[in-house]
Amino acid sequence: MSATMPPSSQTMEEIFNAINLGLIVVNGQKQVTLWNSWIEKHSGTSAADALGKNIGDVFSEAPSPAFISAITNTINYGLPVVLSNALHRSPLALFERGIEQTGKRIHQSISLTPINVGSERCCLVQVTDSTTSIKREKILRTHSELLKKEATTDGLTGIYNRRFFDEHYKMALGQTLRQNTSLAVFMVDIDFFKEFNDCYGHVIGDHALIQVASVLKKQLQRASDVVARFGGEEFVLMLPHMDQESATTFAEKIRKAVWDLNIPHEKSRISDRVSISIGFSTVSSNTAIDPKVLLNTADAALYSAKRGGRNRAFFLSPPQADPAGKAKS
Ligand code: GH3
Ligand code: MG
Ligand code: MG
Repeated sequence: MSATMPPSSQTMEEIFNAINLGLIVVNGQKQVTLWNSWIEKHSGTSAADALGKNIGDVFSEAPSPAFISAITNTINYGLPVVLSNALHRSPLALFERGIEQTGKRIHQSISLTPINVGSERCCLVQVTDSTTSIKREKILRTHSELLKKEATTDGLTGIYNRRFFDEHYKMALGQTLRQNTSLAVFMVDIDFFKEFNDCYGHVIGDHALIQVASVLKKQLQRASDVVARFGGEEFVLMLPHMDQESATTFAEKIRKAVWDLNIPHEKSRISDRVSISIGFSTVSSNTAIDPKVLLNTADAALYSAKRGGRNRAFFLSPPQADPAGKAKS
């Protein structure tokens, strides 16, 4: 049967040269005894020039020390070795088009296998081009980073979205209670924004949202401070290590920052420009509180700011914890 028929040495040579991977055989003295067409093409060294030479001297640049020591180990101890692509990107001077000046160096996966030729232990080197798979891996990594960013960012304003806020707020509040410090939460809502849209249209409305988001973000100073779009024309801010007194100053600071944007709003019933109302609340030392309760308190304070005339900030203390340490809603 043909499957068991030994191929002629001519057929073997054709196979070695047609195969889409690099094949090198190195004998016990580390001399090259096989150098296929793939290696010829990518090294720029012909088989005639390579055969009989020491493997350390046949490439335009010396192979990496890791490659040479892997060859030594395979020949001396008969152990197969794989040079991991993650650790050894390009151990051999092999180029995309074989020419060092114009071709990029190929990323390689190399495996070395001991083979016995007669009584001599030789080493078979197989080289595959992993440039494409590395490129693909890089693209996938970039995509996954992008997706992660998209999942936590508000598409219109570019600031964090509610999902990000919810996760980080819970963590920050837990940390605040453990460390016995304080945390301030601000709910911000643009005044008469429905009228703004009705008057100027959605595109200008969107632009105003972007401006407000951006100026709110500019007011933050610490890496742990967060501003997020809570939904529609509402924003939420969380500032760890901020007590009631500093929060009162900060609320006025953000109200003024939006006011100073001076975005015309001729249909506002309280002024001639875009303004915001703010409700805020704080927790400090030893106050056990449910994250939702603190947010609801800031929301109730926002409602009071609206009822109090808008373009202002209003503070409410969270409900007192009962003796069991649980906050009342
Ligand atoms: P108040 O002062 O009581 O907050 O009045 P308001 O008009 O701002 O409140 P209301 O909740 O009635 O209206 C909110 C408006 O915000 C309605 C909607 O047209 C607008 N809005 C929400 N999301 C967007 C958005 O993504 N883009 C634009 N352009 N407008 C939005
Ligand atoms: Mg609203
Ligand atoms: Mg509003």
